[in-house]
Amino acid sequence: MGGLKPFSAIMMNLRDITYEGFLDLAVSMGEKPYRAGQLYRWVYARGVSSIDEMTDISLALRERLKEKYCITGPSLVDTFSSEDGTVKLVYELSDGLRIQSVIMPEGKRTTVCVSTQAGCALGCGFCLTGTGGYKRNLTLSEMVTQILSAGALAGEGRSITNIVFMGMGEPLLNLDTLIEFINILVDPAGFAISHNRITVSTAGITPGLQRLGTDTNVNLAVSLNAATDSLRSELMPVNRKYPLSGLMEGLRSYPLHGKKHLTIEYVLLGGVNESADDARALVRLLASLKCKINLIPFNPFAGAAFKSPRDEDVERFRDILMKSGYMAVIRKSRGADIGAACGQLKARDLARLSKEKTLEAEGC
Ligand code: SAH
Ligand code: SF4
Repeated sequence: MGGLKPFSAIMMNLRDITYEGFLDLAVSMGEKPYRAGQLYRWVYARGVSSIDEMTDISLALRERLKEKYCITGPSLVDTFSSEDGTVKLVYELSDGLRIQSVIMPEGKRTTVCVSTQAGCALGCGFCLTGTGGYKRNLTLSEMVTQILSAGALAGEGRSITNIVFMGMGEPLLNLDTLIEFINILVDPAGFAISHNRITVSTAGITPGLQRLGTDTNVNLAVSLNAATDSLRSELMPVNRKYPLSGLMEGLRSYPLHGKKHLTIEYVLLGGVNESADDARALVRLLASLKCKINLIPFNPFAGAAFKSPRDEDVERFRDILMKSGYMAVIRKSRGADIGAACGQLKARDLARLSKEKTLEAEGC
């Protein structure tokens, strides 16, 4: 397979088109509206990588489509496999930027951790992605391709069952495209993944919460990481803009569908936010919020200003939450040996790129 062909301004990538867009496309080409559904299913449900694969569409129409449209996505430039089965996928975007996804198989479940931005603007000090700065939002096709490629690489007989938006970037700062993507993920004519199996994680972009909850039915996880404004602002600068009072109000009014609960993520940093007092402050902050708590021991990286917590401090923290009636789980990070664990995603300078591993669609 070759590299991406140069982008042509007049070509439009079919992986950037929503169902409504396919309806417009059909009309603009003088075709019946049912064509929209046909094309949509080829692109998303079947995940074809070329217009030529759309075998129930006449040759003449395929030729007309190819004059204006293409199917393309980021090039998969490297993969790293962990001892625990986790696989990190490294993609190069058409402008040379790098992003990553992670495939996490576990029993019958195969979860993909998706990136929504190249880099992240929020600069949380404990997160490797945050230390690298922000580049740009990802497009719909750049997110769609992460799922299609992960599906192709998930292994014999495996398909993608769960999606977590916990890769590079802040999903709620790319909200329009995120919602378009989620609608395609849950659509039975798209990827047909249940909204119960999709989780969006946010650092707490308060104004985006309501719209995510109204326009989608997915699960919400919030990276809290501290129970006071002073500590949280130190760890997560975004807290200065959206402090805890407004964030907690946003979480309390978040539309929870059915029996779902929110997930609170709390990265435990040794000597910083894992004392018994910190745990009690968290209990007070969360009072009456329908949530479970994921405790994530800090994953260290070179040059980090933090250290991992001691096991006994992690357990004490968990026990205080549990005794106060909260469901709290210590999350063992997966893929730490390949830099795929939470907060370890960053495009590194990969000197030797294996071109044979490149998996991509036809160029535009
Ligand atoms: N921007 C979003 C989603 C991506 S980060 C957010 O912050 O929620 C996904 C999770 O990884 C967050 O809960 C974050 O707190 C956690 N994380 C970041 N760096 C980490 C590290 N070094 N060790 C453990 N968890 C980390
Ligand atoms: Fe960005 Fe999330 Fe990392 Fe913070 S934890 S820098 S919001 S990716």
